[in-house]
Amino acid sequence: MSIPASPYELLVQSVTDYAIYMLDLEGRVASWNPGAERIKGYTADEIIGEHFARFYTPEDRAAGVPQRALETAAATGRFTAEAWRQRKDGSRFWAMVVIDPIRRDGELVGFAKITRDMTEQREAQLALLETERRFRLLVQGVVDYAIFMLDPDGIVTNWNSGAERIKGYAASEVVGKHFSTFYTPEDQEAGIPARTIETARRTGHCQAEGWRVRKDGTPFWAGVALDAIRDEDGVLIGFAKITRDLTERREAQLALERSREQLFQAQKMEAVGSLTGGLAHDFNNLLTGISGSLELMRSRLAQGRIGEIERYITVAQNAASRAASLTHRLLAFARRQTLDPRPIDANRLVSDMEDLVRRTVGPEIAVEAALAGGLWPTLCDPNQLENAVLNLCINARDAMPQGGRLTVETANTWFDERSAGERGVRPGQYVAVSVSDTGTGMTPEVVARAFEPLFTTKPSGRGTGLGLSMIYGFAQQSGGEARIYSEVGIGTTVRLYLPRHLGDVAEEKGSTAGPLAHGRGQGRTVLVVDDEASVRALVADVLGELGYHVVEASDGVSGLRVLESRTPIDLLITDVGLPGGLNGRQVADAARRTRPALKILFVTGYAENAAIGHAHLEPGMHVLTKPFAVDRLASRVETILAEA
Ligand code: ADP
Ligand code: MG
Repeated sequence: MSIPASPYELLVQSVTDYAIYMLDLEGRVASWNPGAERIKGYTADEIIGEHFARFYTPEDRAAGVPQRALETAAATGRFTAEAWRQRKDGSRFWAMVVIDPIRRDGELVGFAKITRDMTEQREAQLALLETERRFRLLVQGVVDYAIFMLDPDGIVTNWNSGAERIKGYAASEVVGKHFSTFYTPEDQEAGIPARTIETARRTGHCQAEGWRVRKDGTPFWAGVALDAIRDEDGVLIGFAKITRDLTERREAQLALERSREQLFQAQKMEAVGSLTGGLAHDFNNLLTGISGSLELMRSRLAQGRIGEIERYITVAQNAASRAASLTHRLLAFARRQTLDPRPIDANRLVSDMEDLVRRTVGPEIAVEAALAGGLWPTLCDPNQLENAVLNLCINARDAMPQGGRLTVETANTWFDERSAGERGVRPGQYVAVSVSDTGTGMTPEVVARAFEPLFTTKPSGRGTGLGLSMIYGFAQQSGGEARIYSEVGIGTTVRLYLPRHLGDVAEEKGSTAGPLAHGRGQGRTVLVVDDEASVRALVADVLGELGYHVVEASDGVSGLRVLESRTPIDLLITDVGLPGGLNGRQVADAARRTRPALKILFVTGYAENAAIGHAHLEPGMHVLTKPFAVDRLASRVETILAEA
């Protein structure tokens, strides 16, 4: 059979991707193109006139598939199939087949056949399906992570076994629900789910840790990651969400923080104990100064030598203010404070402590402060830095039982890559605070272990081995370092490197009130509640002097009686520890019930602070710590009353 060389033939003969050929009515091959030769492996000479059934697998042939294909094409006008076919060499390929009947003048004369080799595509598709299947199995099988998807509106679209385990919902319960279901009511109220999705939409990713709620209502601490999924055109398809239950880790972390805080507190109290020993002696001296002066004043008065009294007043006053400032520092130091880093002037901190240190270490040890001019500010918790310096001073004292020299030094320090490498610190600018002594020194073995918690060479009862380990932890936590330089028989330097803070140190606010002036309190009434008659009288005197009207009460119950009367009261000044079953805080709380705007000033020593509940002081409530200077009281009262 010869086919005229038409443009169609040329076209067909140039196609190599498709086998395009004709069959006669019986199914014998009538034409052949290069595509057919390439795909099936027969040349035109070999195949023309042969029956097309040979392209089928033996199984298909046995089942009569070739014949049915032609019948279907003839009857319906088209036959299509995807199936295995066989090449000349017996190998198989995945064929996409189309058979069309050819009619001339309405009469069937043969068939046009187009076959494509789809083996590669099929394999790729199968591979894809397989990966998808495995991935699905993988995701489904993960029990440690909740892995699920959200549509662009935040509706859950699928759910794995980890999600079921962690959140407690079965897939059937949760698919179709909004993912905010998993958030706490407070977080929902605060709009956190919406913000999370918005962030993931905008930046592609959102990560968070927080409390989430299980189906049974119990909370768990979740580590959450949300990734936006977009198609090739950048259209948002949804979000992949991975959630981990980190409750245990969180609890361990909280426990660690708590124990660290407790450790800090315990260690601080140890230092306070150690300081108090040294101070007690000093206090006796100060008290002697005061009582001695009083005695002398009495005898001078009796002798009528009034002109000399002024001198003794000054002596007594100096001793008293010295004692007050020492107690104050000690109490401030012992007081529990939240650890918060602030810009610090280390020079000021050291010089504020100098007196305390000097009195603690005793007269055999000479204390010297070598403070650098132009010292940079540093960023750390002042309470901890103070604690660190005091501990180093106590260590220095312990190392110099026969006396010696203790030097506290500050310096600006800058490490380039090399010098930082030599000292094992990060390159950069630091404020160095060092405490040096001329004491026993340490052997290299002791230096190597000195920062270890609980390492001590001191007899039990004298050392706990916590000082240096806390100092080390503090330096690390502040982004700095601690180093020991020591030689046996010569002495020791412990140096803290604290990172330079680029910025200013906030000025501490001093007293803003001017000198005592009469008449400032005109027309105001202050209720003073204190069981200590002398304190009450002192406060009443000072305020009366300034023109305030003062009402006094000696315990909580009588104070409250005044507050429940119709007497106008502008300010309540009350001690916290009071006899008679009502403490100052309870008096204040009861008074606020009838006088909600009442201004309150608690006057307290450290021991009672817990009763006020410092952290929860309501607006209009203030605290003044004992001992206080008279003008400080006056200025506080004035400031409080001036507040809106
Ligand atoms: P503690 O003072 O309770 O023993 P520290 O952690 O403060 O605990 O110090 C650990 C050890 O390091 C001390 O027991 C001592 O052996 C040694 N040490 C610390 N500071 C000095 C110092 N200035 N001179 C000599 N040895 C010191
Ligand atoms: Mg110590």
